[in-house]
Amino acid sequence: MIPPETEWLSDANLRAVCDALRAAGDDVYLVGGCVRDAILGIPGSDVDMATPLSPAEVTRLAEAAGLKVVPTGIAHGTVTVVAGGTGYEVTTFRKDVATDGRRAVVAFSTDMAEDARRRDFTLNALYATPEGRILDPLGGLEDCLSRRIRFVGTARDRIREDYLRILRFFRFHAWYADSSRGFDEDALDAIAAHAEGLETLSAERVGQEMRRLLAAPDPAPALATMQRTGVLQRLLPGSDITLLGPALHIEAHLAMTQDWRMRLAALGGLDVAERLRLSSKDAQHLTVLREAMSEGPPVSEIAYRSGYDLAAQTLVLRSALANHLPDPSALGPLKTAAQAQFPIRAKDFMPGLSGKALGARLAALEERWIASDFTLTREELMTPD
Ligand code: ATP
Ligand code: MG
Repeated sequence: MIPPETEWLSDANLRAVCDALRAAGDDVYLVGGCVRDAILGIPGSDVDMATPLSPAEVTRLAEAAGLKVVPTGIAHGTVTVVAGGTGYEVTTFRKDVATDGRRAVVAFSTDMAEDARRRDFTLNALYATPEGRILDPLGGLEDCLSRRIRFVGTARDRIREDYLRILRFFRFHAWYADSSRGFDEDALDAIAAHAEGLETLSAERVGQEMRRLLAAPDPAPALATMQRTGVLQRLLPGSDITLLGPALHIEAHLAMTQDWRMRLAALGGLDVAERLRLSSKDAQHLTVLREAMSEGPPVSEIAYRSGYDLAAQTLVLRSALANHLPDPSALGPLKTAAQAQFPIRAKDFMPGLSGKALGARLAALEERWIASDFTLTREELMTPD
């Protein structure tokens, strides 16, 4: 059974969707991440549902119960049923028919085992009734409980169908695997043999998986194995894991918020923002971080000008480069600096000064104030030295 404290078990909106779809006696199941995470006691996962009902039947039954339906991915068998303002994705059982290696091609099915066989890993091929009874068509429950990442079927075949599964293998390893176990050697052989297929994937899909991989509590073993199998070089040419271990160690030592962008900066590499299709905000953060890690003003000044996160992450990367373990007390002054307010305003000098002269005067005073670690008061600054 699914643990009773699992959030989705007591989600009234979810229950309304399930009741609507079961009105004619048909089945609907929770599947994938939400079942896996419930079994492992991990909160907060998105709910995905699977059913032998066709998308048209799902739509008809939901609308008959007064629920709104959005045809999010009808071609792939997915509709979103909205209850109480929340949308739930319901996908018709599918089976693989043919593939181009970039995305599996599927047909609808009414057989749960067929639907399970097209999923990537055994721990992702688990189903549950809305009441919490687990259905395990492929024996994935044991793998899930022992935190083993195993391809459904033969690794080589499954990778050739969709090369993104290489990255998902490492992502799920980083998040879920029992770290004492190491990697399945057959899977690694298949991955190394097919790494060139990664180049056919879209930057969006690669970027999404890489961000999630890098956000894992400890992505180092997965990334080291990706480097060893040639996967990392394919995805991010010029990157290297050397700095990652020290950076993660320092990040943990300082009890900092884990941030995938800091980890990505530690990896380096060329054209990273394009290769991972980063948002302009994330790309900007990464650029600033990569510049600041090797040169630039003291981290307190970075905190004042660009905010606490960038400064703290710069501190981590600079320390990793210098092979130095900073004291956690180094973060306090960065918090202070990030909130510091320059105590002087342009109007303090008007009308006496204006234009360039005013700008230069303010900049010089701000520099003095920064150099004083933000301690000089307004009066001290206004008094000529
Ligand atoms: P998360 O909690 O990170 O969302 P998830 O397992 O739900 O994890 P999704 O990417 O949301 O991951 O996919 C939902 C489910 O769809 C997976 O659990 C898996 O069964 C299946 N799936 C997703 N992508 C693939 C793929 N590339 N190949 C095969 N099955 C896949
Ligand atoms: Mg999911």
